[in-house]
Amino acid sequence: MNYHVMTLFPELIENTFNHSITGRAMENGIVTLNTVNIRDYAQNKTKHVDDYIYGGGSGMLIQAEPVWLCYQDLISKIQDENFKVLYMSPRGKTFNQKMANELAELDNVIFLCGHYEGIDERAIELINPEYVSIGDFVLTGGELPSLLMMDAITRQISGVLGSDDSAIDESFYNGLLEYPQYTRPAVYEGLEVPSVLLSGNHKLIEQWRHEKALEITKEHRPDLYKKYMESDNFDSE
Ligand code: SAM
Repeated sequence: MNYHVMTLFPELIENTFNHSITGRAMENGIVTLNTVNIRDYAQNKTKHVDDYIYGGGSGMLIQAEPVWLCYQDLISKIQDENFKVLYMSPRGKTFNQKMANELAELDNVIFLCGHYEGIDERAIELINPEYVSIGDFVLTGGELPSLLMMDAITRQISGVLGSDDSAIDESFYNGLLEYPQYTRPAVYEGLEVPSVLLSGNHKLIEQWRHEKALEITKEHRPDLYKKYMESDNFDSE
């Protein structure tokens, strides 16, 4: 997987991606990260990329030209027809686990990060990206959304987590939230780890975990629970 991020803040992306699971995936050559600074494509001496908004209103907008030039240069270097361009935008469909799993199948994903009040609509029209949002709230830029997405996608790529089962066990993978988990000591502040987890009986443990996952999903995400109960996952149990 090769990630490409078009941004005004490449250091923000690089310095965060570098850590933990994503950093290790990069060290192991499973993913690569290519950040491209939109500012490098500004065609003026002061390298400004933003300007006032036609029709008035507060704030500034990223101009179309540096974004379009940056994009054209970037795709001329990607030897792959099967890539996706995602514009981080409140306009988009809300990112979820299913999208992360699907994106993990690709070899190249381009993230376009807006800033200020966003990007001149003509650049968006020319690039024709898919819009992706991370929720119904407004952030300062597309950098955090793209980092968040790259993190979730990377976890789904084979070889990234210690064992491939780790991703399968996690919340949302099978449509449910994860069951409760415990580590040593077996008793803490008078609270005991459920005895079944100490029994060594894997079948019983699996059964207990599934029941807890159902219980927790029902309590915390009744919407997910309903969907799960109506799904094939439930029928095949
Ligand atoms: N004026 C825009 C609006 O009202 O929709 C918001 C612009 S926001 C301050 C700057 C940039 O942050 C956006 O262009 C987008 O790239 C990113 N952004 C903000 N909120 C986001 C969200 N919920 N999901 C994804 N990207 C977001």
